Amino acid sequence: MRRFVIGFGLSVFLCFLGSPAGALEATKLADGVYGIKGPGMDFNTSIVVGDRGVFVFGCAPNTYYERMEAIKKVAGGKPVRYVSNGHYAFDDTGCNHLLAEQGATVIGNPVFAKLLMPYLRERLTEDAAKGRIKKELVEGKRVELAMPTILFEDKLTLDLGSHLVELQFVGKAHTQDNAIVWLPKEKILFADDLLFVELHPTADDRSDTMNWQRILRKLAGWSPATVVPGHGVFAPGNGAKSLLEMDRYFETMRAKIKAMKDTGKSLDEIKKGIRAELGEFAKWPRERAIPGTAEQVYRELGAK
Ligand SMILES: [Zn+2]
Repeated sequence: MRRFVIGFGLSVFLCFLGSPAGALEATKLADGVYGIKGPGMDFNTSIVVGDRGVFVFGCAPNTYYERMEAIKKVAGGKPVRYVSNGHYAFDDTGCNHLLAEQGATVIGNPVFAKLLMPYLRERLTEDAAKGRIKKELVEGKRVELAMPTILFEDKLTLDLGSHLVELQFVGKAHTQDNAIVWLPKEKILFADDLLFVELHPTADDRSDTMNWQRILRKLAGWSPATVVPGHGVFAPGNGAKSLLEMDRYFETMRAKIKAMKDTGKSLDEIKKGIRAELGEFAKWPRERAIPGTAEQVYRELGAK
């Protein structure tokens, strides 16, 4: 009884704290198509529950159990049959080996495969050591199962019977290996980290912001009905608006950095001062990403 009271008290306390490990919900976007909003600014998982199997696009290991629970609720008893990722970062790929262990096939492009190992093993080991993820998700696990066993160069279509799922390599943007998922019948796009909604995106020396913008405009041109971003909010029927907003974000940042550079400001001054210049975007959270993105845009301006 006492244990119950303590346990109950603790869970009420955690509820009030808004614990990031709370239950996660899959939002229905179309028949059999769902997005799981990551807690806070965390990564979003996308799911397609087809007649011939379940497809999962990305999963963050710090909330692995919560995400699996949310998937289970909508999968109707079907196991995850395929997994793919938008790029190689741990918050996107950190569940691959766990899903593969349960029988899922990992699919990816060769650029992604090249970047994934040994990076992922080191990152997950470090995260477990620092208590950011549960040790049991790494220790004694065959992390190498995270590697794709099916490789595609540009495009691969999964025919799940009820749904077609197109995996497309789009090239260097956020990182070198960016891929998206397009559901041609439902016109739903899983944009992964090409899209941060109302959050400052991360760009660094692995990025190409000019190409990133070209890709955003191309994807907006497909007139998606619904877009799931890698990070940030989404809703059924949200359309291409956020893709174009991200394009405008980089356009604004580039123009302001160029102007600051032209008046003789140093890179350090630009990194410190750029936020105030971003207008409608200045108030977005995730401001820690701004200096890195500014530095990359500055670098690209110099390279021209
Ligand atoms: Zn991410």
